[in-house]
Parts: sequence; structure tokens; C-alpha cells
Amino acid sequence: MKKIIETKDIKKTYRMGAEEVQALKSVSIEVNKGEYVAFMGPSGSGKSTLMNIIGCLDTPTSGIYILNGKDVSDMSENELAEIRNKEIGFVFQTFNLLPRASCLENVALPLIYAGYGKAEREEKAFQALKNVGLGDRVNHKPNELSGGQRQRVAIARALVNDPSIILADEPTGNLDSKTSYDIMELFHELHQKGNTIIMVTHEDDIAHYAHRIVRLRDGLVESDTVNPNPTRGKTVAAIG
Ligand code: ADP
Ligand code: MG
Repeated sequence: MKKIIETKDIKKTYRMGAEEVQALKSVSIEVNKGEYVAFMGPSGSGKSTLMNIIGCLDTPTSGIYILNGKDVSDMSENELAEIRNKEIGFVFQTFNLLPRASCLENVALPLIYAGYGKAEREEKAFQALKNVGLGDRVNHKPNELSGGQRQRVAIARALVNDPSIILADEPTGNLDSKTSYDIMELFHELHQKGNTIIMVTHEDDIAHYAHRIVRLRDGLVESDTVNPNPTRGKTVAAIG
């Protein structure tokens, strides 16, 4: 199994004036290519902080982070931005779509940074939307879609660059339970295709789709266990 993520004794301290918060006290974890992992734990336990470091949106105060064989601990902001664009697809609780842009434009956005021409961007974005079952919504604006459809647009955007890792922080946090399960079906399918997925969730039944569950508490890994019987998805085609 190829190691894709390795953190060694990662610490993160936030300073706000005289106050210090130790969001991560010491986190050492490894994730192999193709794994499907859920991060759980109470609010404030450090889940988002760890996801942001893994996604190169933030850097640890100390410790080593190796992503895809590269030590990213001491990289410049430019180098980190490049890695983010190439290696990571982000999915957020609040979707983070541009409200005035069409679905196609939203999904094509990461391809602008990656340097593709317009025709190629539109073709790739269209394919990505088709892959999440939204091939007939390319010209819609986000506010013309349901919450689940918006999250699927965000997932298409996360995948359009063919990243090695998908990071999803509470991806179903703003969705009703039926729609949440639809999104989990999609994640299941992505995992089947070989994508590496890490998601943060509060909900046991959502976490149960993952094949491994890491629990954080007070900035430490409290437990890290294999899920012997992950929830199996239907196929996206069956969702309609
Ligand atoms: P979780 O996602 O598990 O709820 P977070 O990683 O968001 O936890 O937060 C961990 C701790 O770090 C919390 O005490 C939180 O208040 C603090 N924290 C998170 N982000 C910041 C920040 N940008 N500045 C200061 N403190 C922060
Ligand atoms: Mg969080």
C-alpha cells in the first residue's frame, strides 16, 4: 500500500493576543492511497485544523507533514498553492460556490488556475458534472438547485482536476438525511474508483460509510479503528 499522507507529531497552536489555543497537541497519522477515512470527535477537537493542514490550507506550528512523498512542512505559500491545485479536492459544508456563476463556470474554476484553455476547461467541467449526475444542469446558477445538487456541483469542482485526495469537512452538515445519503452514495462510488477520501463528520451513520474511523479529542488521536462493515452504497445511476 502506498502512503499518501503522513503526519509526524504535528502540533498547531493558535495565538490570539495573549491567548493561546493548542488545537493539535501531537497528531501522527498515516493514510494510504485509496483509503476512505472519517474523522470524528467533539466540536473543537481539532478536526478542521487537521483537515486544513492536510489540505495545505494551513501549516503546522511544528512537526512534519509528508504528502505524496513530498515534505510540505517548509514549503512557501506559492508551492503550497500549487500542491493544493494539483493534489487536493476540497468539499465544504457550505458548498462555497460562486452565486453568480453557472454550474459549468463554478466547476471549471480550478482549471483556470491549472492553466487550461477555455474549450478544454468547459469539456472537463461538463464531464465532471455528468459524472455526478448533473449533465443537464450546466447552465443553472447555484440558487436554482437543491442543496444536494449544489453539493454535487461542489464535488464535481473538487474532482475536475483529478486530485489524488478528496477532503470533505462536514460535507453533509447542511443537507437533510435523504440528500446526505445520496452524497454518501457518490463518495462510495468515488472510493470504488480508487480515490482517497478523508471526511469530517459528526454523524455516526455518515461516518459508517468510511472504512476507517479516526476519533480526535482535545487535539489528540483518541482512537483509530478499521470499520469492519462499512455501509455499502447503491450506484449513483440508481439515485435519479
Ligand atoms: P473542530 O473542527 O473539531 O470543531 P477546530 O479544528 O475548528 O475543531 O478547532 C480546534 C480548536 O482551535 C478550537 O478550540 C478552536 O476554537 C480553535 N481554533 C480553530 N481555528 C482557529 C483560529 N483560526 N484562530 C484561533 N483559534 C482557532
Ligand atoms: Mg470543524
